[in-house]
Amino acid sequence: MDDRPLSLQEMLRRALTSQVEMGMDEIILPPRRAVAEPDLDQTFMMAAPERQQVVAVADLFGEEKPAGSAPPRFESLNAHFEAVCNCQECPLGATRNKFVYGVGNPNADLLFIGEAPGADEDRLGEPFVGRAGQLLDKILTAIRLSRSDVYIANILKCRPPGNRDPQPDEMEKCFPLLKEQVALIAPKLICALGRIAAQALLATTTPLGKLRGQWHEYEGVPMLVTYHPAALLRFPSYKRDTWVDMQTLRARYDELIG
Ligand code: URA
Repeated sequence: MDDRPLSLQEMLRRALTSQVEMGMDEIILPPRRAVAEPDLDQTFMMAAPERQQVVAVADLFGEEKPAGSAPPRFESLNAHFEAVCNCQECPLGATRNKFVYGVGNPNADLLFIGEAPGADEDRLGEPFVGRAGQLLDKILTAIRLSRSDVYIANILKCRPPGNRDPQPDEMEKCFPLLKEQVALIAPKLICALGRIAAQALLATTTPLGKLRGQWHEYEGVPMLVTYHPAALLRFPSYKRDTWVDMQTLRARYDELIG
């Protein structure tokens, strides 16, 4: 793979191509960034490695991480993964092929949380690798991010048979693992993908329509709720709202991180 930084033109070309592939027929520019393109260049070419350095130094001196109310019980995501990857706390442990822990930058500032692995994820052990995942990749590209910038996890680590909705007992057993992951990653922003993720994280039964497009908080971390990419595949008309949500998310990301 070519690791050279992308030119501004190439980043714009990819972002616009993704927007078109998402079905957008016009370009919606975030107001704050409309006249600030040089900043974008800086954000993507220089700030990311510096940010990782800062996290490493903070770790060295044992500074508190912002997310999570309780201190993490594990010293790294890897240690956490090793401790939980053979989980048999709920019946899905017996039917899974692969435990789907999560993927991405362990120091990510932005964490996406979906529902549960599907057939492709269960086979490969990585979240969002099927059709919905490909659309998530396009959404990320459209906001000038990639899988390696963010972290992606699910409410459930194991596939519910036949892709049925996660059951309350499964979520109850699995949720503490996600909570520990969030504390270890200490993201500055979370994006909940779809109803199941949003309702579980917010401990509410409020319908998705009321939660979507709004900022909430999970463990003190600002959290935006949007549609699940699988819903966009079924209802392409949701893409417009999703795109607006992604602009909102990117603007907050720029404010906090850029
Ligand atoms: N849907 C999800 O919610 N998560 C995945 O990992 C894949 C599809």
